[in-house]
Amino acid sequence: MTRVALVTGGSRGIGAAISIALKEAGRHVIASYAGNVEAAEAFTASTGIPTIKFDAGSFPECEAAVAEITEAHGAIEVLVNNAGITRDGTMNRMTRDMWDAVIDTNLGSCFNLCKLTFDGMKAKKFGRVVNIGSINGQAGQYGQVNYAAAKSGIHGFTKALAQEGARFGITVNAIAPGYVDTDMVRAVPEDVLAKIVARIPVGRLGHAEDIARGVVFLTADAGDFITGSTLSINGGQHMY
Ligand code: NDP
Repeated sequence: MTRVALVTGGSRGIGAAISIALKEAGRHVIASYAGNVEAAEAFTASTGIPTIKFDAGSFPECEAAVAEITEAHGAIEVLVNNAGITRDGTMNRMTRDMWDAVIDTNLGSCFNLCKLTFDGMKAKKFGRVVNIGSINGQAGQYGQVNYAAAKSGIHGFTKALAQEGARFGITVNAIAPGYVDTDMVRAVPEDVLAKIVARIPVGRLGHAEDIARGVVFLTADAGDFITGSTLSINGGQHMY
């Protein structure tokens, strides 16, 4: 069924694969991005998927964007909270700004967009929310107290909101990707990355499409009995 889907950070990396897979599944997809206009324009040109620029960590910007999308395309029924950043550093080096940026972008964005779309989903008696967590939110990671806290928070947020949404036909699930070959992971030093890959039983980094497949599964119209779950897609690196 043609339902309106918003994928935050949907113009690059994992988000781009999710946007494309949802479009192929028949959804009317809008992809958001933060500031990389060039990548967003190239994405729209090659896929036909419209993009919208706003900071998912800012409530007022989300409010304006949701109003604009609703006006132009209709109420958002499928929401994928994928936008995320890293600002790594050990506790010694981590500043309060690094903490705030990661918490606001990765976790605050889930609150902002769920808060702003929930009533519309309730009115339709249908909603599908997928929040993109991380293996590092499940297992922790050296130098990532901000990122691990935000991602771990996503998993708790998901289970709590799933309980609120259930009687309205709204499912809320999370995906915890392992290491996926995107710009975010390409920023990791090569020697560190080699050690990470050596710990993945499947023997490779994930592809963005591996995660997108999980999103299509969890957002299917028929998926109304799957809620509050976390799907780990990590090549067997962490069995939770
Ligand atoms: P990328 O860095 O490749 O892409 C991030 C996307 O998020 C971009 O589209 C970016 O927009 C957008 N974005 C960043 N900040 C904001 C913001 N404040 N508001 C709106 N959009 C924003 O990331 P990945 O594809 O690697 O990661 C996607 C998600 O998956 C993230 O939540 C990440 O934490 C998670 N994840 C990734 C893993 C990996 O191995 N790659 C592993 C586990 C989880 P722009 O193009 O404008 O910069």
